[in-house]
Amino acid sequence: MTTIAQRLKNIHKQIREAELAGNRQPGEVILLAVSKTKPAEDIAAAYQAGQRHFGENYLQEALKKQQELGVYAITWHFIGPIQSNKTKALAAHFDWVHSVDSFKIAQRLSDQRPLYLPPLNICLQINVSDEPSKSGISLAELPLLYEQIAMLPNLKLRGVMAIPAPHQEFEQQRLSYKVLYEAVTKLKKHELDTYSFGMSGDLKAAITEGSTIVRIGTALFGERV
Ligand SMILES: *Cc1c(COP(=O)(O)O)cnc(C)c1O
Repeated sequence: MTTIAQRLKNIHKQIREAELAGNRQPGEVILLAVSKTKPAEDIAAAYQAGQRHFGENYLQEALKKQQELGVYAITWHFIGPIQSNKTKALAAHFDWVHSVDSFKIAQRLSDQRPLYLPPLNICLQINVSDEPSKSGISLAELPLLYEQIAMLPNLKLRGVMAIPAPHQEFEQQRLSYKVLYEAVTKLKKHELDTYSFGMSGDLKAAITEGSTIVRIGTALFGERV
């Protein structure tokens, strides 16, 4: 067994334990393997061990790996910051974009989504800790932006993504996810099914607070250098 396959198994175990502890349905949480800065061979190793969802942060790097891995049936997620000049390629080459943080970006993605593809799955990135340095919209902006983006024809608004300020302590880790989860459940008008919550360091807290996609890099592929 390769190291990546062993780590994958270990992460699945952690996810399963967190689902049980958090009274979640077993198998409800999707593992998104975050492969930024890692070579295509690492993605291939995880794929051969059964992993199908991969997340990338940098467009050019992602496009190169997608070419190298063309034979694999991978579901590609974009999770990095988005500049306007990247939306055309994102709309054409990804299945999901988690990091939408303005109407303008959403509109461009919808306009540029090729019509031979299904609607692009998107999440709104929320700056839950209200850190000025972080991307994402504030919780106060969510209801209006939500209504506007839900109208766009070639997108499927699935939910929200958050990267809270890091905390060591479990109860602290839970707090911002809890606040965001509650804010989203108040938006009753549309169907939302995705909470892109949790990374290597706070997977358990995120799953306890309703995560449906955990984005794991380091715990699967090792430290990034
Ligand atoms: C890098 C990254 C991750 C993965 O973080 P790890 O701590 O390595 O698990 C998750 N989400 C986003 C948005 C990232 O940029």
